[in-house]
Amino acid sequence: MTASCRFTFRLMMLIFPFWLMPSLTFAAIPTLVIEGDTVKLEQFQMGYFVDSTEKMSFPEVQRQDFQPSSNSVSLGLEAKTTWAQIKLENVNSTALKLYLHDPYAYHNHILELYEVVDGKLTRQRILDMDRKETQQWMYRGSAVFDITLPPKSHKTLYIRSVSSSHQWFSLSLYDEDDSKRALLTLFTDIALLVGVLLALMVYNLLLFLSSRLREHFFYACYLVSGGFWIALTYGLLGNLFDVYGTMTLKWHLSLGAMPIFLLLFMIHIFETKKKYPIEHWALLLNISLLVANAIYGLFDIVTALSYSSTLAAIMMIISLSVTLSMLIRKHPMALFFLLGHGLFVFFSSLSVLFYKGMVEFNYINSHGVGIGIMVEALVLSLIIAYRIRMLENLKVAQVELKLLASTDSLTQLFNRRHFSNEANAILEKNQRAKEAITVTVLDIDFFKKINDAYGHGLGDKVIIRVADALRAQCRRQDIFARYGGEEFVILMPNTYLNEAYTLAERIRQELENVVIPIDQQQSVSFTVSIGIAEVDAETPDLQAAINRADKALYKAKNNGRNQSQRFSP
Ligand code: GH3
Ligand code: MG
Ligand code: MG
Repeated sequence: MTASCRFTFRLMMLIFPFWLMPSLTFAAIPTLVIEGDTVKLEQFQMGYFVDSTEKMSFPEVQRQDFQPSSNSVSLGLEAKTTWAQIKLENVNSTALKLYLHDPYAYHNHILELYEVVDGKLTRQRILDMDRKETQQWMYRGSAVFDITLPPKSHKTLYIRSVSSSHQWFSLSLYDEDDSKRALLTLFTDIALLVGVLLALMVYNLLLFLSSRLREHFFYACYLVSGGFWIALTYGLLGNLFDVYGTMTLKWHLSLGAMPIFLLLFMIHIFETKKKYPIEHWALLLNISLLVANAIYGLFDIVTALSYSSTLAAIMMIISLSVTLSMLIRKHPMALFFLLGHGLFVFFSSLSVLFYKGMVEFNYINSHGVGIGIMVEALVLSLIIAYRIRMLENLKVAQVELKLLASTDSLTQLFNRRHFSNEANAILEKNQRAKEAITVTVLDIDFFKKINDAYGHGLGDKVIIRVADALRAQCRRQDIFARYGGEEFVILMPNTYLNEAYTLAERIRQELENVVIPIDQQQSVSFTVSIGIAEVDAETPDLQAAINRADKALYKAKNNGRNQSQRFSP
Protein backbone atom coordinates (compact mmCIF):
# COMPACT_ATOMS: atom_id res chain seq x y z
CA MET A 1 0.00 0.00 0.00
CA THR A 2 1.48 3.39 -1.03
CA ALA A 3 1.54 6.33 1.38
CA SER A 4 -1.25 8.19 -0.44
CA CYS A 5 -3.32 5.06 -0.58
CA ARG A 6 -2.91 4.58 3.18
CA PHE A 7 -3.95 8.19 3.73
CA THR A 8 -7.11 7.79 1.62
CA PHE A 9 -8.00 4.65 3.58
CA ARG A 10 -7.61 6.44 6.92
CA LEU A 11 -9.68 9.37 5.63
CA MET A 12 -12.42 6.98 4.54
CA MET A 13 -12.39 5.38 7.96
CA LEU A 14 -12.83 8.83 9.52
CA ILE A 15 -15.60 9.95 7.17
CA PHE A 16 -17.61 6.71 7.33
CA PRO A 17 -19.82 6.70 10.39
CA PHE A 18 -19.16 3.85 12.76
CA TRP A 19 -22.68 2.40 12.45
CA LEU A 20 -22.09 1.72 8.77
CA MET A 21 -19.24 -0.57 9.62
CA PRO A 22 -21.25 -3.79 9.74
CA SER A 23 -22.03 -3.35 6.04
CA LEU A 24 -18.34 -3.04 5.19
CA THR A 25 -16.95 -6.41 4.29
CA PHE A 26 -13.53 -5.66 5.76
CA ALA A 27 -14.84 -4.55 9.16
CA ALA A 28 -12.52 -5.90 11.81
CA ILE A 29 -13.58 -7.60 15.02
CA PRO A 30 -11.50 -6.04 17.79
CA THR A 31 -9.22 -8.30 19.81
CA LEU A 32 -9.91 -8.54 23.56
CA VAL A 33 -6.55 -7.93 25.18
CA ILE A 34 -6.29 -9.54 28.59
CA GLU A 35 -3.86 -8.12 31.12
CA GLY A 36 -3.64 -9.33 34.70
CA ASP A 37 -5.49 -12.31 36.07
CA THR A 38 -8.94 -10.86 36.92
CA VAL A 39 -11.29 -11.27 34.02
CA LYS A 40 -14.89 -10.13 34.07
CA LEU A 41 -15.95 -9.37 30.52
CA GLU A 42 -19.71 -8.86 30.40
CA GLN A 43 -19.79 -6.23 27.67
CA PHE A 44 -17.44 -6.41 24.73
CA GLN A 45 -17.26 -6.43 20.95
CA MET A 46 -17.42 -9.70 19.06
CA GLY A 47 -18.62 -10.72 15.63
CA TYR A 48 -21.47 -12.86 14.39
CA PHE A 49 -22.35 -14.61 11.17
CA VAL A 50 -25.71 -16.15 10.24
CA ASP A 51 -25.35 -19.40 8.34
CA SER A 52 -28.60 -19.38 6.39
CA THR A 53 -27.71 -22.70 4.76
CA GLU A 54 -27.58 -24.16 8.31
CA LYS A 55 -24.92 -26.67 7.26
CA MET A 56 -21.71 -24.83 6.48
CA SER A 57 -18.52 -26.65 7.46
CA PHE A 58 -16.22 -25.02 10.00
CA PRO A 59 -13.42 -24.18 7.49
CA GLU A 60 -16.06 -22.53 5.30
CA VAL A 61 -17.38 -20.54 8.26
CA GLN A 62 -13.87 -19.38 9.09
CA ARG A 63 -13.64 -17.75 5.67
CA GLN A 64 -16.88 -15.76 6.14
CA ASP A 65 -17.11 -12.09 7.07
CA PHE A 66 -18.39 -11.63 10.63
CA GLN A 67 -20.56 -8.62 11.54
CA PRO A 68 -19.19 -6.68 14.51
CA SER A 69 -21.71 -6.64 17.35
CA SER A 70 -21.97 -6.60 21.11
CA ASN A 71 -21.56 -9.87 23.01
CA SER A 72 -25.37 -10.29 23.23
CA VAL A 73 -27.38 -10.82 20.08
CA SER A 74 -31.02 -11.38 19.27
CA LEU A 75 -31.59 -12.17 15.61
CA GLY A 76 -35.15 -13.45 15.27
CA LEU A 77 -36.50 -16.46 13.43
CA GLU A 78 -34.36 -16.27 10.31
CA ALA A 79 -31.05 -16.93 12.05
CA LYS A 80 -31.47 -20.50 13.29
CA THR A 81 -27.75 -21.25 12.93
CA THR A 82 -25.58 -18.37 14.04
CA TRP A 83 -21.85 -18.19 14.68
CA ALA A 84 -20.10 -15.85 17.11
CA GLN A 85 -16.42 -14.96 16.85
CA ILE A 86 -14.37 -13.72 19.82
CA LYS A 87 -10.69 -12.78 19.45
CA LEU A 88 -8.56 -13.07 22.56
CA GLU A 89 -5.00 -12.09 23.38
CA ASN A 90 -3.25 -12.95 26.63
CA VAL A 91 -0.44 -10.43 27.12
CA ASN A 92 0.52 -11.93 30.51
CA SER A 93 3.59 -14.06 30.85
CA THR A 94 1.48 -16.66 32.69
CA ALA A 95 -1.21 -18.95 31.37
CA LEU A 96 -4.85 -17.98 32.06
CA LYS A 97 -7.88 -20.12 32.64
CA LEU A 98 -11.09 -18.45 31.49
CA TYR A 99 -14.73 -19.48 31.52
CA LEU A 100 -17.06 -18.66 28.65
CA HIS A 101 -20.71 -18.37 29.83
CA ASP A 102 -23.99 -18.33 27.96
CA PRO A 103 -26.64 -17.91 30.67
CA TYR A 104 -29.41 -18.35 28.06
CA ALA A 105 -28.10 -21.66 26.73
CA TYR A 106 -31.15 -23.51 28.18
CA HIS A 107 -33.20 -21.81 25.52
CA ASN A 108 -31.16 -22.83 22.47
CA HIS A 109 -30.75 -26.25 20.96
CA ILE A 110 -27.03 -26.68 20.31
CA LEU A 111 -23.99 -24.72 21.37
CA GLU A 112 -20.59 -25.59 19.88
CA LEU A 113 -17.25 -24.09 20.80
CA TYR A 114 -14.29 -24.10 18.40
CA GLU A 115 -10.88 -22.84 19.58
CA VAL A 116 -8.52 -21.64 16.82
CA VAL A 117 -4.84 -20.75 17.17
CA ASP A 118 -2.98 -19.35 14.15
CA GLY A 119 -5.83 -20.40 11.86
CA LYS A 120 -5.74 -23.99 13.11
CA LEU A 121 -8.54 -25.70 15.02
CA THR A 122 -7.12 -26.83 18.37
CA ARG A 123 -10.18 -27.93 20.29
CA GLN A 124 -13.86 -28.52 19.52
CA ARG A 125 -16.75 -29.12 21.92
CA ILE A 126 -20.41 -29.80 21.22
CA LEU A 127 -23.17 -29.18 23.73
CA ASP A 128 -26.50 -30.61 22.54
CA MET A 129 -29.42 -29.97 24.90
CA ASP A 130 -31.04 -33.21 23.75
CA ARG A 131 -28.00 -35.39 24.45
CA LYS A 132 -27.29 -36.02 28.13
CA GLU A 133 -23.71 -37.15 27.45
CA THR A 134 -22.82 -33.70 26.02
CA GLN A 135 -24.22 -31.78 28.96
CA GLN A 136 -21.01 -31.70 31.02
CA TRP A 137 -20.72 -28.00 29.98
CA MET A 138 -24.22 -27.23 31.16
CA TYR A 139 -24.57 -25.92 34.68
CA ARG A 140 -28.17 -25.34 35.86
CA GLY A 141 -29.34 -23.70 32.65
CA SER A 142 -26.08 -21.90 31.82
CA ALA A 143 -23.47 -23.13 29.38
CA VAL A 144 -19.98 -22.88 30.88
CA PHE A 145 -16.86 -23.72 28.84
CA ASP A 146 -13.36 -23.57 30.28
CA ILE A 147 -10.70 -22.11 28.01
CA THR A 148 -6.94 -22.07 28.53
CA LEU A 149 -4.89 -19.18 27.19
CA PRO A 150 -1.14 -19.91 27.17
CA PRO A 151 1.21 -17.00 28.09
CA LYS A 152 1.64 -14.33 25.38
CA SER A 153 -0.79 -15.99 22.99
CA HIS A 154 -3.68 -15.30 20.61
CA LYS A 155 -6.77 -17.44 20.36
CA THR A 156 -10.00 -17.04 18.38
CA LEU A 157 -13.22 -18.60 19.65
CA TYR A 158 -16.03 -19.59 17.32
CA ILE A 159 -19.36 -20.39 18.95
CA ARG A 160 -22.09 -22.03 16.92
CA SER A 161 -25.58 -21.49 18.34
CA VAL A 162 -28.49 -23.43 16.89
CA SER A 163 -31.88 -22.20 18.07
CA SER A 164 -35.17 -24.04 18.23
CA SER A 165 -37.14 -20.96 17.24
CA HIS A 166 -35.95 -17.40 17.92
CA GLN A 167 -32.19 -16.93 18.02
CA TRP A 168 -30.75 -15.07 21.02
CA PHE A 169 -27.75 -15.61 23.22
CA SER A 170 -25.33 -13.69 25.35
CA LEU A 171 -21.67 -14.54 25.99
CA SER A 172 -19.50 -13.50 28.91
CA LEU A 173 -15.91 -14.30 29.91
CA TYR A 174 -14.80 -14.71 33.52
CA ASP A 175 -11.89 -15.89 35.61
CA GLU A 176 -12.66 -18.75 37.98
CA ASP A 177 -13.89 -16.63 40.93
CA ASP A 178 -16.13 -14.38 38.85
CA SER A 179 -17.46 -17.40 37.00
CA LYS A 180 -18.65 -18.90 40.29
CA ARG A 181 -20.12 -15.60 41.39
CA ALA A 182 -22.02 -15.15 38.11
CA LEU A 183 -23.53 -18.62 38.46
CA LEU A 184 -24.58 -17.98 42.05
CA THR A 185 -26.65 -14.87 41.40
CA LEU A 186 -28.41 -16.26 38.34
CA PHE A 187 -32.20 -16.38 38.35
CA THR A 188 -32.79 -14.68 41.72
CA ASP A 189 -34.74 -11.96 39.89
CA ILE A 190 -36.84 -14.55 38.07
CA ALA A 191 -37.47 -16.48 41.28
CA LEU A 192 -38.72 -13.27 42.90
CA LEU A 193 -40.99 -12.55 39.94
CA VAL A 194 -42.44 -16.05 39.94
CA GLY A 195 -42.88 -15.84 43.73
CA VAL A 196 -44.99 -12.68 43.45
CA LEU A 197 -47.13 -14.29 40.74
CA LEU A 198 -47.60 -17.42 42.86
CA ALA A 199 -48.73 -15.34 45.83
CA LEU A 200 -51.24 -13.48 43.63
CA MET A 201 -52.39 -16.81 42.22
CA VAL A 202 -53.12 -18.29 45.65
CA TYR A 203 -54.92 -15.09 46.63
CA ASN A 204 -57.13 -15.29 43.53
CA LEU A 205 -57.85 -18.99 43.98
CA LEU A 206 -59.00 -18.28 47.54
CA LEU A 207 -61.14 -15.43 46.24
CA PHE A 208 -62.62 -17.78 43.66
CA LEU A 209 -63.38 -20.43 46.29
CA SER A 210 -65.12 -17.90 48.52
CA SER A 211 -66.96 -15.88 45.86
CA ARG A 212 -67.33 -18.40 43.00
CA LEU A 213 -66.78 -15.48 40.62
CA ARG A 214 -65.20 -16.96 37.51
CA GLU A 215 -62.95 -13.97 36.83
CA HIS A 216 -60.84 -14.94 39.86
CA PHE A 217 -60.47 -18.47 38.48
CA PHE A 218 -59.40 -17.29 35.03
CA TYR A 219 -57.10 -14.74 36.57
CA ALA A 220 -55.47 -17.43 38.72
CA CYS A 221 -55.07 -19.60 35.59
CA TYR A 222 -53.53 -16.62 33.80
CA LEU A 223 -51.02 -16.22 36.61
CA VAL A 224 -50.25 -19.96 36.65
CA SER A 225 -49.56 -20.11 32.92
CA GLY A 226 -47.73 -16.77 32.98
CA GLY A 227 -45.62 -17.77 35.98
CA PHE A 228 -44.83 -21.13 34.44
CA TRP A 229 -43.83 -19.57 31.14
CA ILE A 230 -41.63 -17.00 32.88
CA ALA A 231 -39.93 -19.78 34.87
CA LEU A 232 -39.43 -21.71 31.64
CA THR A 233 -38.36 -19.02 29.24
CA TYR A 234 -36.13 -17.16 31.68
CA GLY A 235 -34.37 -20.36 32.68
CA LEU A 236 -35.63 -20.88 36.24
CA LEU A 237 -36.98 -24.36 35.43
CA GLY A 238 -33.72 -25.25 33.69
CA ASN A 239 -31.81 -23.90 36.65
CA LEU A 240 -33.82 -25.78 39.26
CA PHE A 241 -34.48 -29.08 37.49
CA ASP A 242 -31.77 -29.30 34.84
CA VAL A 243 -34.33 -29.64 32.05
CA TYR A 244 -33.49 -28.32 28.60
CA GLY A 245 -33.81 -29.11 24.95
CA THR A 246 -36.65 -30.34 22.80
CA MET A 247 -38.52 -31.83 25.75
CA THR A 248 -39.14 -28.35 27.18
CA LEU A 249 -40.19 -26.95 23.84
CA LYS A 250 -43.81 -28.13 24.18
CA TRP A 251 -44.02 -26.44 27.57
CA HIS A 252 -43.99 -23.17 25.68
CA LEU A 253 -47.67 -23.88 25.03
CA SER A 254 -48.17 -22.11 28.37
CA LEU A 255 -47.31 -18.93 26.44
CA GLY A 256 -50.39 -19.61 24.32
CA ALA A 257 -52.56 -20.40 27.35
CA MET A 258 -51.70 -17.15 29.10
CA PRO A 259 -53.49 -14.72 26.71
CA ILE A 260 -56.47 -17.12 26.46
CA PHE A 261 -57.00 -16.83 30.21
CA LEU A 262 -56.46 -13.08 30.16
CA LEU A 263 -59.14 -12.68 27.47
CA LEU A 264 -61.53 -14.91 29.45
CA PHE A 265 -60.82 -12.71 32.45
CA MET A 266 -61.73 -9.66 30.35
CA ILE A 267 -64.98 -11.26 29.20
CA HIS A 268 -66.04 -11.80 32.81
CA ILE A 269 -64.76 -8.61 34.36
CA PHE A 270 -66.40 -6.41 31.69
CA GLU A 271 -69.45 -8.72 31.42
CA THR A 272 -69.21 -8.43 27.65
CA LYS A 273 -71.57 -11.35 26.98
CA LYS A 274 -74.49 -9.49 28.53
CA LYS A 275 -73.64 -5.92 27.71
CA TYR A 276 -71.20 -5.50 24.82
CA PRO A 277 -71.82 -8.03 22.01
CA ILE A 278 -69.34 -6.60 19.47
CA GLU A 279 -66.49 -6.60 21.99
CA HIS A 280 -67.57 -10.05 23.12
CA TRP A 281 -67.29 -11.48 19.61
CA ALA A 282 -63.94 -9.80 19.05
CA LEU A 283 -62.59 -11.41 22.23
CA LEU A 284 -64.08 -14.80 21.32
CA LEU A 285 -62.56 -14.61 17.84
CA ASN A 286 -59.19 -13.82 19.38
CA ILE A 287 -59.54 -16.72 21.81
CA SER A 288 -60.34 -19.13 18.97
CA LEU A 289 -57.23 -18.01 17.07
CA LEU A 290 -55.11 -18.66 20.15
CA VAL A 291 -56.80 -22.01 20.85
CA ALA A 292 -56.26 -23.08 17.23
CA ASN A 293 -52.57 -22.19 17.48
CA ALA A 294 -52.26 -24.02 20.81
CA ILE A 295 -53.86 -27.16 19.36
CA TYR A 296 -51.57 -26.90 16.33
CA GLY A 297 -48.67 -26.57 18.76
CA LEU A 298 -49.49 -29.97 20.25
CA PHE A 299 -48.41 -31.47 16.92
CA ASP A 300 -45.81 -28.99 15.68
CA ILE A 301 -44.62 -26.70 18.42
CA VAL A 302 -41.83 -25.07 16.40
CA THR A 303 -44.22 -23.78 13.72
CA ALA A 304 -46.75 -22.78 16.38
CA LEU A 305 -44.07 -20.83 18.24
CA SER A 306 -43.01 -19.07 15.06
CA TYR A 307 -46.54 -17.57 14.91
CA SER A 308 -46.53 -16.66 18.60
CA SER A 309 -45.14 -13.13 18.29
CA THR A 310 -47.58 -12.31 15.47
CA LEU A 311 -50.48 -13.74 17.50
CA ALA A 312 -49.29 -11.78 20.52
CA ALA A 313 -49.39 -8.61 18.43
CA ILE A 314 -52.97 -9.40 17.26
CA MET A 315 -54.02 -10.15 20.83
CA MET A 316 -52.58 -6.87 22.07
CA ILE A 317 -54.39 -4.87 19.38
CA ILE A 318 -57.77 -6.55 20.05
CA SER A 319 -57.54 -6.45 23.83
CA LEU A 320 -56.41 -2.82 23.83
CA SER A 321 -59.21 -1.85 21.43
CA VAL A 322 -61.80 -3.56 23.65
CA THR A 323 -60.35 -1.79 26.70
CA LEU A 324 -60.48 1.57 24.92
CA SER A 325 -64.06 0.87 23.93
CA MET A 326 -64.87 0.09 27.57
CA LEU A 327 -63.21 3.35 28.57
CA ILE A 328 -65.33 5.31 26.07
CA ARG A 329 -68.43 3.59 27.47
CA LYS A 330 -67.28 4.70 30.93
CA HIS A 331 -66.95 1.20 32.36
CA PRO A 332 -65.70 1.74 35.94
CA MET A 333 -62.93 -0.85 35.61
CA ALA A 334 -61.68 0.25 32.18
CA LEU A 335 -59.14 2.79 33.40
CA PHE A 336 -57.40 0.33 35.75
CA PHE A 337 -57.41 -2.28 33.04
CA LEU A 338 -56.08 0.12 30.44
CA LEU A 339 -53.25 1.12 32.77
CA GLY A 340 -52.32 -2.48 33.69
CA HIS A 341 -52.83 -3.92 30.25
CA GLY A 342 -51.18 -0.91 28.60
CA LEU A 343 -48.05 -1.57 30.65
CA PHE A 344 -48.21 -5.26 29.73
CA VAL A 345 -48.57 -4.42 26.05
CA PHE A 346 -45.73 -1.90 26.24
CA PHE A 347 -43.24 -4.29 27.85
CA SER A 348 -44.40 -7.28 25.81
CA SER A 349 -44.05 -5.28 22.58
CA LEU A 350 -40.44 -4.68 23.52
CA SER A 351 -40.12 -8.43 23.94
CA VAL A 352 -41.77 -9.18 20.60
CA LEU A 353 -39.32 -6.79 18.93
CA PHE A 354 -36.51 -8.40 20.91
CA TYR A 355 -37.39 -11.95 19.84
CA LYS A 356 -37.69 -10.74 16.26
CA GLY A 357 -34.17 -9.28 16.62
CA MET A 358 -35.33 -5.71 16.01
CA VAL A 359 -34.22 -4.05 19.25
CA GLU A 360 -31.02 -4.26 21.26
CA PHE A 361 -30.33 -6.99 23.77
CA ASN A 362 -30.83 -5.52 27.23
CA TYR A 363 -32.50 -6.68 30.44
CA ILE A 364 -35.85 -4.93 29.90
CA ASN A 365 -36.19 -5.96 26.24
CA SER A 366 -35.20 -9.55 26.88
CA HIS A 367 -37.42 -9.86 29.98
CA GLY A 368 -40.29 -7.73 28.65
CA VAL A 369 -43.06 -10.32 28.90
CA GLY A 370 -42.10 -11.18 32.48
CA ILE A 371 -41.94 -7.55 33.56
CA GLY A 372 -45.20 -6.89 31.69
CA ILE A 373 -47.05 -9.76 33.36
CA MET A 374 -45.78 -8.75 36.77
CA VAL A 375 -46.70 -5.04 36.47
CA GLU A 376 -50.06 -5.93 34.96
CA ALA A 377 -50.77 -8.48 37.66
CA LEU A 378 -50.15 -5.87 40.35
CA VAL A 379 -52.41 -3.28 38.69
CA LEU A 380 -55.11 -5.87 37.96
CA SER A 381 -55.11 -6.74 41.65
CA LEU A 382 -56.48 -3.21 42.10
CA ILE A 383 -59.35 -4.10 39.76
CA ILE A 384 -60.07 -7.15 41.83
CA ALA A 385 -59.97 -5.14 45.05
CA TYR A 386 -62.21 -2.50 43.45
CA ARG A 387 -64.63 -5.14 42.25
CA ILE A 388 -64.79 -6.78 45.65
CA ARG A 389 -65.57 -3.40 47.19
CA MET A 390 -68.25 -2.79 44.56
CA LEU A 391 -69.85 -6.17 45.26
CA GLU A 392 -69.69 -5.53 49.01
CA ASN A 393 -71.43 -2.16 48.54
CA LEU A 394 -74.02 -3.86 46.37
CA LYS A 395 -74.66 -6.44 49.06
CA VAL A 396 -75.06 -3.75 51.74
CA ALA A 397 -77.42 -1.85 49.44
CA GLN A 398 -79.42 -5.00 48.83
CA VAL A 399 -79.75 -5.66 52.56
CA GLU A 400 -80.85 -2.05 53.09
CA LEU A 401 -83.34 -2.29 50.27
CA LYS A 402 -84.74 -5.51 51.63
CA LEU A 403 -85.12 -3.98 55.06
CA LEU A 404 -86.77 -0.92 53.51
CA ALA A 405 -89.21 -3.10 51.61
CA SER A 406 -90.13 -5.09 54.68
CA THR A 407 -90.60 -2.35 57.28
CA ASP A 408 -93.13 0.36 57.93
CA SER A 409 -91.52 3.77 57.85
CA LEU A 410 -93.58 5.35 60.69
CA THR A 411 -93.08 2.67 63.36
CA GLN A 412 -90.11 0.69 61.97
CA LEU A 413 -92.17 -2.46 62.60
CA PHE A 414 -92.50 -5.11 59.90
CA ASN A 415 -95.18 -4.30 57.31
CA ARG A 416 -98.12 -6.48 56.38
CA ARG A 417 -96.38 -8.17 53.43
CA HIS A 418 -93.29 -9.15 55.37
CA PHE A 419 -95.45 -10.33 58.27
CA SER A 420 -97.44 -12.61 55.92
CA ASN A 421 -94.27 -14.10 54.45
CA GLU A 422 -92.70 -14.77 57.83
CA ALA A 423 -95.91 -16.05 59.39
CA ASN A 424 -96.62 -18.42 56.48
CA ALA A 425 -93.07 -19.75 56.72
CA ILE A 426 -93.62 -20.51 60.40
CA LEU A 427 -96.95 -22.20 59.73
CA GLU A 428 -95.36 -24.31 57.05
CA LYS A 429 -92.53 -25.36 59.36
CA ASN A 430 -95.08 -26.25 62.02
CA GLN A 431 -97.01 -28.63 59.77
CA ARG A 432 -95.33 -31.69 61.30
CA ALA A 433 -94.94 -30.56 64.92
CA LYS A 434 -98.48 -29.12 65.08
CA GLU A 435 -97.66 -26.88 68.02
CA ALA A 436 -100.25 -24.29 69.12
CA ILE A 437 -99.89 -20.99 67.28
CA THR A 438 -101.95 -17.95 68.17
CA VAL A 439 -102.76 -14.80 66.22
CA THR A 440 -103.61 -11.53 67.96
CA VAL A 441 -105.11 -8.42 66.33
CA LEU A 442 -104.99 -4.99 68.00
CA ASP A 443 -106.92 -1.85 67.03
CA ILE A 444 -106.81 1.60 68.67
CA ASP A 445 -110.15 2.72 70.09
CA PHE A 446 -111.86 5.82 68.64
CA PHE A 447 -108.74 6.72 66.77
CA LYS A 448 -110.63 8.93 64.33
CA LYS A 449 -111.59 11.14 67.26
CA ILE A 450 -107.96 11.51 68.36
CA ASN A 451 -107.02 12.51 64.82
CA ASP A 452 -109.91 14.92 64.56
CA ALA A 453 -109.36 16.52 67.97
CA TYR A 454 -105.58 16.81 68.06
CA GLY A 455 -104.49 16.40 64.48
CA HIS A 456 -102.71 13.67 62.47
CA GLY A 457 -99.36 14.46 64.07
CA LEU A 458 -100.56 13.42 67.46
CA GLY A 459 -102.37 10.43 65.91
CA ASP A 460 -99.01 9.33 64.56
CA LYS A 461 -97.44 9.68 68.02
CA VAL A 462 -100.13 7.35 69.41
CA ILE A 463 -99.42 4.79 66.68
CA ILE A 464 -95.68 4.94 67.46
CA ARG A 465 -96.41 4.50 71.17
CA VAL A 466 -98.41 1.33 70.45
CA ALA A 467 -95.50 0.00 68.36
CA ASP A 468 -93.14 0.64 71.30
CA ALA A 469 -95.44 -1.31 73.61
CA LEU A 470 -95.42 -4.27 71.20
CA ARG A 471 -91.64 -4.18 71.04
CA ALA A 472 -91.43 -4.08 74.83
CA GLN A 473 -93.96 -6.82 75.61
CA CYS A 474 -93.64 -9.35 72.78
CA ARG A 475 -91.24 -12.24 73.23
CA ARG A 476 -88.26 -13.09 71.07
CA GLN A 477 -90.12 -15.76 69.09
CA ASP A 478 -93.19 -13.57 68.39
CA ILE A 479 -93.61 -11.84 65.04
CA PHE A 480 -95.47 -8.56 65.11
CA ALA A 481 -96.26 -5.95 62.51
CA ARG A 482 -98.25 -2.85 61.66
CA TYR A 483 -101.04 -4.50 59.72
CA GLY A 484 -102.91 -1.40 58.56
CA GLY A 485 -103.51 2.24 59.58
CA GLU A 486 -103.96 1.82 63.33
CA GLU A 487 -104.15 -1.97 63.41
CA PHE A 488 -101.41 -4.30 64.58
CA VAL A 489 -100.98 -8.05 64.43
CA ILE A 490 -98.89 -10.54 66.46
CA LEU A 491 -98.16 -14.17 65.61
CA MET A 492 -97.15 -16.18 68.66
CA PRO A 493 -95.56 -19.54 67.87
CA ASN A 494 -95.81 -22.33 70.45
CA THR A 495 -98.45 -20.36 72.41
CA TYR A 496 -101.93 -21.38 73.59
CA LEU A 497 -104.90 -19.05 73.50
CA ASN A 498 -104.78 -18.31 77.24
CA GLU A 499 -101.07 -17.51 77.25
CA ALA A 500 -101.68 -15.15 74.34
CA TYR A 501 -104.54 -13.56 76.28
CA THR A 502 -102.21 -12.85 79.22
CA LEU A 503 -99.68 -11.19 76.92
CA ALA A 504 -102.42 -9.19 75.17
CA GLU A 505 -103.74 -7.97 78.48
CA ARG A 506 -100.27 -6.86 79.48
CA ILE A 507 -100.02 -4.78 76.31
CA ARG A 508 -103.51 -3.37 76.74
CA GLN A 509 -102.86 -2.41 80.38
CA GLU A 510 -99.55 -0.74 79.56
CA LEU A 511 -101.21 1.38 76.87
CA GLU A 512 -104.19 2.23 79.08
CA ASN A 513 -101.81 4.01 81.44
CA VAL A 514 -99.94 5.95 78.75
CA VAL A 515 -100.28 9.74 78.90
CA ILE A 516 -99.10 11.71 75.88
CA PRO A 517 -98.61 15.42 76.71
CA ILE A 518 -99.87 17.96 74.20
CA ASP A 519 -98.90 21.13 76.01
CA GLN A 520 -98.54 22.21 79.63
CA GLN A 521 -102.26 21.87 80.38
CA GLN A 522 -103.46 19.13 78.04
CA SER A 523 -102.57 15.53 77.50
CA VAL A 524 -104.08 12.53 75.69
CA SER A 525 -104.79 9.01 76.85
CA PHE A 526 -106.14 6.20 74.69
CA THR A 527 -107.11 2.54 74.84
CA VAL A 528 -106.93 -0.42 72.52
CA SER A 529 -109.10 -3.45 71.81
CA ILE A 530 -107.62 -6.87 71.09
CA GLY A 531 -108.92 -10.04 69.42
CA ILE A 532 -107.17 -13.40 69.83
CA ALA A 533 -107.58 -16.67 67.89
CA GLU A 534 -105.66 -19.90 67.58
CA VAL A 535 -104.42 -21.19 64.22
CA ASP A 536 -106.17 -24.42 63.25
CA ALA A 537 -103.48 -27.09 63.63
CA GLU A 538 -105.11 -29.35 61.00
CA THR A 539 -105.57 -26.70 58.28
CA PRO A 540 -103.06 -23.98 59.13
CA ASP A 541 -104.44 -20.97 57.26
CA LEU A 542 -103.10 -17.59 58.35
CA GLN A 543 -105.88 -15.51 56.82
CA ALA A 544 -108.56 -17.72 58.41
CA ALA A 545 -106.92 -17.28 61.82
CA ILE A 546 -106.70 -13.49 61.34
CA ASN A 547 -110.38 -13.43 60.35
CA ARG A 548 -111.28 -15.26 63.56
CA ALA A 549 -109.12 -12.89 65.61
CA ASP A 550 -110.94 -9.99 63.84
CA LYS A 551 -114.24 -11.47 64.94
CA ALA A 552 -113.01 -11.54 68.54
CA LEU A 553 -111.83 -7.93 68.12
CA TYR A 554 -115.28 -6.97 66.87
CA LYS A 555 -116.70 -8.56 70.01
CA ALA A 556 -114.26 -6.54 72.16
CA LYS A 557 -115.35 -3.31 70.42
CA ASN A 558 -119.01 -4.16 70.86
CA ASN A 559 -118.51 -5.03 74.53
CA GLY A 560 -117.31 -1.49 75.22
CA ARG A 561 -113.69 -1.48 73.95
CA ASN A 562 -110.47 -1.40 76.09
CA GLN A 563 -110.46 -5.18 76.47
CA SER A 564 -109.06 -8.43 75.02
CA GLN A 565 -111.38 -11.17 73.67
CA ARG A 566 -110.58 -14.78 72.74
CA PHE A 567 -112.32 -16.22 69.69
CA SER A 568 -114.91 -18.87 70.48
CA PRO A 569 -116.90 -20.48 67.68
P1 GH3 B 1 -112.88 2.06 66.50
O1 GH3 B 1 -112.77 2.28 67.98
O2 GH3 B 1 -114.16 1.45 66.12
O3 GH3 B 1 -111.72 1.38 65.89
O4 GH3 B 1 -112.94 3.52 65.91
P2 GH3 B 1 -111.85 4.23 65.08
O5 GH3 B 1 -112.12 5.69 65.04
O6 GH3 B 1 -110.54 3.87 65.55
O7 GH3 B 1 -112.16 3.63 63.66
P3 GH3 B 1 -111.17 3.00 62.67
O8 GH3 B 1 -110.40 1.94 63.31
O9 GH3 B 1 -111.94 2.66 61.44
O10 GH3 B 1 -110.24 4.28 62.37
C1 GH3 B 1 -109.23 4.31 61.43
C2 GH3 B 1 -108.68 5.68 61.37
O11 GH3 B 1 -107.31 5.66 61.47
C3 GH3 B 1 -109.00 6.29 60.04
C4 GH3 B 1 -107.72 7.00 59.65
O12 GH3 B 1 -107.94 8.40 59.50
C5 GH3 B 1 -106.78 6.77 60.79
N1 GH3 B 1 -105.49 6.47 60.33
C6 GH3 B 1 -105.11 5.44 59.53
N2 GH3 B 1 -103.77 5.46 59.33
C7 GH3 B 1 -103.28 6.54 60.01
C8 GH3 B 1 -101.97 7.10 60.19
O13 GH3 B 1 -100.97 6.60 59.69
N3 GH3 B 1 -101.85 8.19 60.97
C9 GH3 B 1 -102.96 8.77 61.56
N4 GH3 B 1 -102.78 9.87 62.31
N5 GH3 B 1 -104.15 8.27 61.38
C10 GH3 B 1 -104.35 7.18 60.64
MG1 MG C 1 -109.25 0.28 62.61
MG1 MG D 1 -109.73 1.93 65.57
